[in-house]
Amino acid sequence: MSRKIAVLAGDGIGPEVVGEAVKVLKRISSAFEFEHALVGGAAYDDGGHPMPQSTLDLCRASDAVLLGAVGGPKYDKIQPPEMRPEVGALLPLRSELNLYANVRPAKTLNALKDSSPLRGDRGVMDLVVMRELTGGIYFARPRERRDDGNTAVDTCIYRRHEVVRIAERAFEIARQRRREIVSVDKANVLETSRLWREVVTEMAPSYPDVKVSHMLVDNCAMQLVRDPSQFDVILTENMFGDILSDEASMITGSLGLLPSASLSDPKEGRVFGLYEPVHGSAPDIAGLGKANPIATILSAAMMLRYSFDDDAAALVIENAVDAVLDAGIRTADIMSEGCQLVSTSEMGEAISQRILLS
Ligand code: NAD
Repeated sequence: MSRKIAVLAGDGIGPEVVGEAVKVLKRISSAFEFEHALVGGAAYDDGGHPMPQSTLDLCRASDAVLLGAVGGPKYDKIQPPEMRPEVGALLPLRSELNLYANVRPAKTLNALKDSSPLRGDRGVMDLVVMRELTGGIYFARPRERRDDGNTAVDTCIYRRHEVVRIAERAFEIARQRRREIVSVDKANVLETSRLWREVVTEMAPSYPDVKVSHMLVDNCAMQLVRDPSQFDVILTENMFGDILSDEASMITGSLGLLPSASLSDPKEGRVFGLYEPVHGSAPDIAGLGKANPIATILSAAMMLRYSFDDDAAALVIENAVDAVLDAGIRTADIMSEGCQLVSTSEMGEAISQRILLS
């Protein structure tokens, strides 16, 4: 069955890293149909808007979206600020496509485990942070306000259906992994957290094969540093997820290698999602062939797993990445002594070759 992927390369290193991910996907299957569209600064230069309607329409008509990165110094001074790529492209993309579930895996790659700030095997982990992305304190209306110079107010609102839908995605993802969810909240203090805990607890019996437990956010931050290997899926609200996913990423020791997915409701039985590397457009190395394409290639693997329900193909990509790193092949950002330095396209090619061999 043909699957349509909207490819939004974006700015800076976006086109370079996305090009390598597309190369890898083409090696995996000939059933993918790629359609490219402009987004971010590139779209602004072309037609005066960072998120053209035609790009949004393409995303809606596709089975999944592969995004590079947007932004760069050239666009930092655009007025009004809502027309800057990060605000004018990324936020509408997320809200228009209803991408409420942000999935950030943090997995120690064997060949790079010495890069973790946790010594020895203490940093070895393989978890996913499942962060609610379109609710909570970042989105509640009325939004933040200053009553006078000295009083500031932010409002945190969660509605039952918002907790239900992110928890559903978390249960589905747990079923594709080790089937353990730790739901993280601050139920000893916050009413929104008490609702969160109540809903997750009510849903758990419908997923009897998934083990569910609850943890307070301060304890979770501590446990991540004490023993990150104890977690499989961490399910949490927007702000806690923002903080915990960065903490978990850092423990892997390789921020630049991390993929992500932002998921919406199932569309004709499959989960619609946007897949992108965690890093930005890296204007300092754009066009130099220095960018590491692995985060984007691993994002493509997530697309296969979550939107196309093809765990086997995702594993082929992940194993190919491991094999290349085990062989000592490195882009400049992860280079170490005795390894072989390669360019962006050489790294993509090396991973593709491993796919052909598998
Ligand atoms: P960045 O992630 O682009 O770069 C930070 C550092 O990491 C730079 O030194 C860069 O060279 C390096 N780096 C990043 N990705 C790399 C890769 N794949 N391979 C090798 N090195 C890599 O963050 P920044 O410099 O803060 O932001 C640059 C621009 O990207 C800004 O305009 C920012 O707003 C934008 N941005 C976009 C997104 C997105 O599109 N989702 C996310 C973050 C930042």
